[in-house]
Amino acid sequence: MSELAERFETHDPGEKQVAEKIRCDACPVMCYISDGRTGACDRYGNVGGRIVRMDPLTILDHATEAGGAVVPFVAEGEEWDGKLVNTGRRFVTAIGAGTTYPDYKPAPFIVSQEVEGVDLVTVVTEGIFSYCGVKVKIDTDRHIGPETATVRSAGEAIGHVTTGEYGSQMLSLGGVHHLTGGSKAEGRATCDALLNLCNRKPVELTIDGGSVVIVEAGKPPVIDGKLEHRMRVGCGSATIGMFATQWRGLVDEVVVVDDHITGVVSEHQAGKVLGWQDTGIKIVGRRSTPGRYFKVSEPGLGWGGTSISDPLSILGEWNAKKGARPGLSLLMVSTTGEQFAYYELDDALKPVQKPFPERLQKSVGLIEENCEPALCTVLFVGGAGGSLRAGVTENPVNLTRSVQGLTTYVTVGGAPVYVWPGGGITLMVDVTRVPEGAFGYVPTPALVAPIEFTLRRDDYIRLGGYEAEIRSVDDILAKGGEYLNPRHGTAAPARNPWPPLAQLRRAAGNGAK
Ligand code: SF4
Repeated sequence: MSELAERFETHDPGEKQVAEKIRCDACPVMCYISDGRTGACDRYGNVGGRIVRMDPLTILDHATEAGGAVVPFVAEGEEWDGKLVNTGRRFVTAIGAGTTYPDYKPAPFIVSQEVEGVDLVTVVTEGIFSYCGVKVKIDTDRHIGPETATVRSAGEAIGHVTTGEYGSQMLSLGGVHHLTGGSKAEGRATCDALLNLCNRKPVELTIDGGSVVIVEAGKPPVIDGKLEHRMRVGCGSATIGMFATQWRGLVDEVVVVDDHITGVVSEHQAGKVLGWQDTGIKIVGRRSTPGRYFKVSEPGLGWGGTSISDPLSILGEWNAKKGARPGLSLLMVSTTGEQFAYYELDDALKPVQKPFPERLQKSVGLIEENCEPALCTVLFVGGAGGSLRAGVTENPVNLTRSVQGLTTYVTVGGAPVYVWPGGGITLMVDVTRVPEGAFGYVPTPALVAPIEFTLRRDDYIRLGGYEAEIRSVDDILAKGGEYLNPRHGTAAPARNPWPPLAQLRRAAGNGAK
């Protein structure tokens, strides 16, 4: 009998068995599952009277960073044949690992591996995150809704618009109040939206008093049915600063229309330094400093994130005493270079639109060329400071201290995370760096995310780790774990280097010994 079959045979469901069903205890829902069926989250099932994690345990192969091929270690439904497919550096992720619930248990896998003379331990578990959400960055100038406006999915409130960043609108979604503090429908809709966003699927979000936005991590946003192409090169003032020299001698005046800071080259410091002449232009808006105007319009979907479609609407009367004259040329352009128009003043000092001259094409093209592609970025934010830590060490606060002290390196599905300073382990990770489909959910509702803690073996023992549970990668490949699922090898994303030896060596030099 193979090791794997033996494990199946020795798993005794007896005391958990209720009328032919067996109980899954991987989360507080405690589903009773009939043979051949899965539980409420589909992550666990009853396979011949045993609780099995239905997805394979994912093992990343870092050897393929050098271009080697990788095939599954064990295909689903088959037993491992004893052959190591790739002997390079492998990283046992928590994807498919199972959880520590009800928390007192050691993590499903505690893996040892020596890399370049450093004896490392990686503690691997899927975490149930009731305290979690996503921060979404949408690269667009367009006004998608007022700050603090409610963001909805499937009609339910799941978050809000938060403070915008440079060239991007920001959403804060999820969090414990939407997951657990509202109605059941709100919790379900929140969990559903978070899960899809984290697994890089498109989600339609409706903003109260604003737009309908389709967000998909790593893809351009679709705002009110229109695909966004570019994020702006900078604010109107910065655009003037960057391109003033390109326009010198080609046109008498340039206005860069922007909802935040509209720039006017003849008045702007950049224009002054280059010897630009006054033009007698008048901008309708609040003058901040020379050549920089706030609030030329209301925010919207028009030029430069304003609500205007006719740029002349932000201009007042031209002043002949301050340089306005018939024939004076004017370029108006948006911060992405997508909208542009050329005018000349007539005898009554009114701007008249003229065909766009060839000589200005290059500078407008340069604005467009300097715009980066507009993308949606989704960062998963979760608090791992709770009981999950007990699966790592018998004294949970030691893990928090070790993470904060950079002695322990935290990853989500092998992807590096940012850990917030201060108390607890509040982490953020770019979901596009996490292998696809890594996130799950339980109907409490909460998200399930893979999490791994890597540290030196001696540090692990010192912080009260479960030394007796440490296993080698080969042993895990061969025998799997409590949840009996197959192991699956895949190439590690090139952007996720592992292990972080420099950090862990520094930690050792920092008094970790
Ligand atoms: S919801 Fe999923 S993890 Fe929770 S008890 Fe049911 S099957 Fe197990």
